[in-house]
Amino acid sequence: MCEKNAFRTISATVTKLVEESPLIRTLRVEPEEEFVFHTGQFAELSVPNIGEGPFTPSSGQFDRDILEFTIMKAGFVTEHIHQLKVGDRIGLRGPFGTKYPIDEWYGKDVLILGGGVGLAPTRSLFLSLVHQIDKYKSITFLTGARTPGDMIYKDQVKEWNKIDKVNIISAVDKVPEGQEWDCEVCLITKLLDKVTIDPQESPAVVCGPPVMMKFGTIELLNHGFQESNIYLSMEKKMYCGHGQCRHCVMGKYYACKDGAVFTYDKIKNEENIWE
Ligand SMILES: Cc1cc2nc3c(=O)[nH]c(=O)nc-3n(C[C@H](O)[C@H](O)[C@H](O)COP(=O)(O)OP(=O)(O)OC[C@H]3O[C@@H](n4cnc5c(N)ncnc54)[C@H](O)[C@@H]3O)c2cc1C
Repeated sequence: MCEKNAFRTISATVTKLVEESPLIRTLRVEPEEEFVFHTGQFAELSVPNIGEGPFTPSSGQFDRDILEFTIMKAGFVTEHIHQLKVGDRIGLRGPFGTKYPIDEWYGKDVLILGGGVGLAPTRSLFLSLVHQIDKYKSITFLTGARTPGDMIYKDQVKEWNKIDKVNIISAVDKVPEGQEWDCEVCLITKLLDKVTIDPQESPAVVCGPPVMMKFGTIELLNHGFQESNIYLSMEKKMYCGHGQCRHCVMGKYYACKDGAVFTYDKIKNEENIWE
């Protein structure tokens, strides 16, 4: 039996672009062959002659005819991704890494905290849960950004909040003059005070910048959530995506192949997890 070749790249065409904020855009891509992933897994996405980087699809795992990535301009590769036009080609490798165990959460209240571009993987998770909403007790989605201008998926959030059993609360750190905002103004962690689900049994997912991952986890623990129920997406710098290059080593784990999704109890004693 042949093992899957982790270096094999599938060609894909950019079919749609949405500018979500000055630094973040969503690309819809159409691969030449089906790219099947579980929510939480990531792909290595390449721009020909430029380079590649790891990105988690922001579309749902059950939406087989739609594959989207939401990408923040951070440096060399992402700068080029932001120059792509509809019709341009990109490459895809993967999927790699662990998934959110959404079928273990049937019957439960699910809590999601997504901040900044960390809303991309959590959008994929949210859409995958909503696809089979009858299987969950409720979904609470806390979304955060620095300012209203940085908040992505704003119009979608309004629509998602109308879905039965879904409760979305959004917050920004501040509202600069000239920007409008009709939701909360506070750190995303403060929104946990508004969450009424039972913390003992509920899974809680955190994805965002390192500082949010750290204080999100601390606050979840303070609110009574269990270490083994807190799911963190550890977006360490990585290249190969499957445990060869060692760039993403976290103590005894590789973020790429043992994660990127880990439960907090598994990694809490490893060094520098919040960096
Ligand atoms: C599993 C995983 C999933 C990811 N999903 C997304 C996503 O859905 N959307 C998105 O916008 N970004 C995502 N990222 C981060 C993204 O991979 C990096 O921002 C991107 O690779 C940077 O490449 P660059 O060449 O543009 O930047 P570079 O020029 O290489 O670096 C620019 C800056 O970004 C930092 N950086 C580089 N790689 C990473 C990284 N992996 N994590 C954090 N900082 C980094 C560098 O240290 C430097 O400060 C994900 C990362 C991982 C590991």
